[in-house]
Parts: sequence; C-alpha cells; structure tokens
Amino acid sequence: MTPQKRILTGDRPTGKYHLGHYVGSIANRLRLQNDYECYFIIADLHTLTTKPNKAEVMGIEQNIRDMIIDQLACGLDPDKVTFYVQSSVKEIYQINLIFEMLVSVARLSRLPSIKDMARAAQIDDEQLPLGLLGYPVLQAADILMPRAHLVPVGKDNEAHVEITREIARRFNFLYGEVFPEPDVLVPDSGTLIGTDGQAKMSKSLNNTILLSDDAKTVEQKVRGMYTDPNRTRADIPGKVEGNPVFIYHDMFNPDVAEVNDLKDRYRTGNVGDVEVKKKLAVAINNFLEPMRERRAIYEAKPNLVDEILAAGNAKTRKIAQETVRMMDEAMGLLYFKN
Ligand code: ATP
Ligand code: MG
Repeated sequence: MTPQKRILTGDRPTGKYHLGHYVGSIANRLRLQNDYECYFIIADLHTLTTKPNKAEVMGIEQNIRDMIIDQLACGLDPDKVTFYVQSSVKEIYQINLIFEMLVSVARLSRLPSIKDMARAAQIDDEQLPLGLLGYPVLQAADILMPRAHLVPVGKDNEAHVEITREIARRFNFLYGEVFPEPDVLVPDSGTLIGTDGQAKMSKSLNNTILLSDDAKTVEQKVRGMYTDPNRTRADIPGKVEGNPVFIYHDMFNPDVAEVNDLKDRYRTGNVGDVEVKKKLAVAINNFLEPMRERRAIYEAKPNLVDEILAAGNAKTRKIAQETVRMMDEAMGLLYFKN
C-alpha cells in the first residue's frame, strides 16, 4: 500500500465558523479526511501580521477552542485528522527564517493580497510590517513543514501557494530534494452569499449564520433575510434567481419537491416570504442539528479539546523536527549542534 498523501490546510483563529466556511472549506475537509493524512492548522501567528496585539486581547485562545469544537461538531474525526496550533510548533519559526532567504522582497511586494490586507488593516506603506510582507513565506513554512502534497485553499490564497511552490523548488535546487511541490485544491463550491444578499457571508459584515447558532437564532436571522426587494406583497411575482433565500434553499433543503414548489409559487406570486423563510429555517436547523448533538459532547467535557490539541501538537512537532533535520542535513548546517 502506498502511503497516503499529506494535506495541510487551516484558518487564522478569527472565531466561530459560519455557513460560508462550511460550504467553502469544511465540507471539503470532511471528504478529504478519509483519503489523506490531514494536518489542520490554527494559524495564530498569522493574526500578528496585521495586529501585533497580545493574544488575550485578540481572544485567540477562546477562538481556537470555538473553532476546534466547530470542526469536531461538523464531523471531522480527531482520529483521522491532526489539529494543531501554529505557535506550539516552534520549528515553524526556524523553517520560516530559512525560507526568508529564498524569496525576493520584489516578488512579495508585487502580490496584490499583501496590499489588500494592509489596506483592510489601515496600514500605510511606511508602516507595513516586515512580517506582513512575509505572510506568504510563513504560509510556505506552514505548508512545507509537514511536507504536504496538497493544499486546499480559497481562491484568494492561490497566489500564496504559488510562492510556496517557488520556495520548495528553490530549496530543492540549492540544497537537494527535500520538499514536494504542493498542488492547490480550490473547491468549486463557490462563495456563499450573506443573509443581507449584498456580499459574501463574512463575520465582519454581520451577515452570517453561525454553525453554533441555536434554533431560535437561526429562525430570527432567516426572518431578517434579504429577498426580492420589489416584492412588497405576497401576490407580486418574485425573482428566484440570485435570491439568497432560494440560494440557501437549494443548498440546505434536501426536499427538492418542496423547494421547486416554493419557487413556482414565488415566481407566480402565490406564496408569502414568511412561508419561504419558515421552511428555510426548518431546513437549516435540520442541517445543523447533528452538529448540535456532537457539540454537546465536547461542551460537556472541555478537557477533550485540550487533549486533542495536545496530541495534535505533539504529533506535528515530531514531523516538524524531522523536516528541520532534513533541511539541516541538506544545507550542511550540522556543525556545532550539541
Ligand atoms: P470571515 O470571512 O467570515 O471574516 P475569515 O476571514 O476568518 O472569516 P476567510 O479567510 O475569509 O475567513 O475564509 C476562510 C476559508 O473559508 C476560505 O477557504 C474561504 O474561501 C472560506 N470562506 C469564507 N467565507 C466564505 C463564504 N461566504 N463562502 C464560501 N467560502 C467562504
Ligand atoms: Mg475573510
């Protein structure tokens, strides 16, 4: 049997996951966990690139807990997947430093994503931290640390993985073959629109439905959802295409006959928004219910998350130490090591 290929993916600890995260990445992780050796990082150091605040100020520890519980609630299996915290694996810092030698400032400066992140954080050129310019280098250290073959990322991160590939190639060329050149895997699920119908679902836009929302909150958020604005009365024919209520019905309501019936009646002005939304809230709550059951197990035993992370960190450290040793050997950095 050939060994399983390795995957590295993860998120910054920015807080609880929403339906957009589920559609755009977690659903994919659920499929991948069965066929690959999966390493899922919580990239806490990356949050420092735009905000070098104390971890407690940013609520990082709580965010990590919430995000691990969310992923477990979704059905990611800690026996199959290795969850770890970036700052707990110090070898990543070492690998990052070596990689900084293998990429030019000019190459990084040309990346639009760096400028976008700086602009979003209101950082001007004069204040741009070296670490923010080095964001893709740290990402390369994350990805190549377990010598990953495959990197599932959102479309916005593809250019960064290209930097990783260049660094891997450069390292292998200069010192000898240590790293695979990892391939990206961009899920074709597209972007989930927010409940406001104006932009993608995103925490900062207050248009989310969280995986951890309770049934009442889901009902309330769905009730407030944006629909066809021209439809001020139930007997006015409405637009189904691009209407977030129907986008969600298509995605989360498995009762296709019910969805088609609602669409027909919406188009002909024979259904009120209230009924469409009530049925949507039921569908989303049915979708979230198994997660709530799994979540309850972990919430009843908070130590489980600590244990899962301790085991994941330890396992990851071992593979990271292996990688650093391979790098040192390839580079001839073996002198005076003891
Ligand atoms: P948010 O965007 O809510 O502020 P975040 O900034 O922590 O969350 P991102 O870095 O934007 O998270 O996204 C993390 C992953 O989730 C990426 O793979 C991204 O493609 C996916 N994702 C986030 N929001 C959506 C969405 N609305 N639809 C589909 N995928 C999404
Ligand atoms: Mg975002």
